[in-house]
Amino acid sequence: MPQGSHSLPASLDCAEILDQLSVALALVDEANGRFAKVNRAFTASFGEPAGTFQEWWAHIHRDPEALDVLRGDWTDRLSQGGQENIESDMHGMDGHLHHIRTQIQSHAGHLLLCFVDLTDNDNRQDLLRQALAEMETRSTTDPLTGLLTRRRLEEASASEMHRFRRFGHPISLIIADIDHFKLVNDAFGHLVGDEVLVEFSLRLSTECRDLDVIGRYGGEEFVILLPSTPLAGGVILANKLRQAVCGTPFEAVGPVSASFGVAECLTDESWHDWLSRADKALYKAKAGGRNLVVAAPESVFDDHHIKHRNRLDRLTWEDGHCVGDPVIDAQHRQLFVLANRLLQIVREAGPAAELHATIRELSQATGRHFRDEEAILKALGYPRCDQHAKAHRILTAKLDALSSQSALGSLPTAKLIEFLAYDLVDHHALGADRDFIPWLRVGARNDAPPAAN
Ligand code: GH3
Ligand code: MG
Ligand code: MG
Repeated sequence: MPQGSHSLPASLDCAEILDQLSVALALVDEANGRFAKVNRAFTASFGEPAGTFQEWWAHIHRDPEALDVLRGDWTDRLSQGGQENIESDMHGMDGHLHHIRTQIQSHAGHLLLCFVDLTDNDNRQDLLRQALAEMETRSTTDPLTGLLTRRRLEEASASEMHRFRRFGHPISLIIADIDHFKLVNDAFGHLVGDEVLVEFSLRLSTECRDLDVIGRYGGEEFVILLPSTPLAGGVILANKLRQAVCGTPFEAVGPVSASFGVAECLTDESWHDWLSRADKALYKAKAGGRNLVVAAPESVFDDHHIKHRNRLDRLTWEDGHCVGDPVIDAQHRQLFVLANRLLQIVREAGPAAELHATIRELSQATGRHFRDEEAILKALGYPRCDQHAKAHRILTAKLDALSSQSALGSLPTAKLIEFLAYDLVDHHALGADRDFIPWLRVGARNDAPPAAN
């Protein structure tokens, strides 16, 4: 059918048709800017309009600046048959703000305005977003205890294991399982059992550091990831947790105890193998009478493991380790070289005299480096200079102690490796030293120092 072949029957009143439509419409006389006609849906939504269209527009937005969108050259475009769409928030008769799309066209000396309420659509999208956020929380947070779910815990383990591989950072895990929990449920009921689970998780959280990642792995089984913690540290914490559980009776049921398995992640070990070593240790704790901590014996920082597995044999320098100052970067590189030479001597069980001489060389190099770095930072006006110098003094004291032990031939290689890989390189050169990078950058441009964060 060709366009324009329709015509309205004479009996139909156009104004009446407009009133029947559920969308709000208005006609504005372009000559004087006044409303020529509004339909019933318009008055239901916004009330009777007063004054000119522009006055009404400012009023409905409660904001004179809303008029800004009506300026510009769009009236020219309208006069050429174009259509303008403006989205804004208008105050409705119901006292609420409505998100409205106003479509404006020009026709026969009038602006034809059509107001489409997008609020419901927005609300639906908000609800959808809320539901998605809730689903995300549910999949990462256990609703009973507020701890991480098994899935989230496994994700966290993957990133911690990555850090361990990259920097030789030790990481341990603890599995905790409440002893005879079935009896608690049998004696007091499932709801009281739930209360015990909540109090148990609270006691674990209280003892752990912020860095530690605690999750509910299964019913009454909890897993805690301990970043930057070798096996020995994991065992100490597990004993603290054990004590925190059995030391004070639970409010709802009296005495409760738990058993703990601890394992440190080994180089190239999968999450499954690591967890399963911790689980075997937990099994031994149960078999050994419960209310016990048992550790899987292997440790990267353990002499035996180092000799037999030949792990952590090199610290790799990467361009990304540079902080941007040629003196500091050259000295960091030199420290890596010396640290690697020490690791090689340890790996090949080299002569004690060579080990001691290289430790002394490292002591001198770090002493020089710390002095130079402190002078550079002071000149830059780095505000945490004193703290940084304090960290240097602690490292120097540790290195002095290692040097004295090596002079006596009584230096455990595990301690030396822990110092090199963890204290000196990971925590300091690749940790604290990255803090002053912004000052180095600004200093190089001779600008004002950046705001401290
Ligand atoms: P064991 O010392 O060997 O660990 O003994 P147990 O009784 O704790 O171990 P078992 O694995 O036999 O029983 C675990 C119990 O934990 C059984 C199960 O009903 C209960 N449980 C698991 N999830 C929940 C939970 O969400 N709420 C409650 N109240 N109980 C739970
Ligand atoms: Mg149990
Ligand atoms: Mg269990």
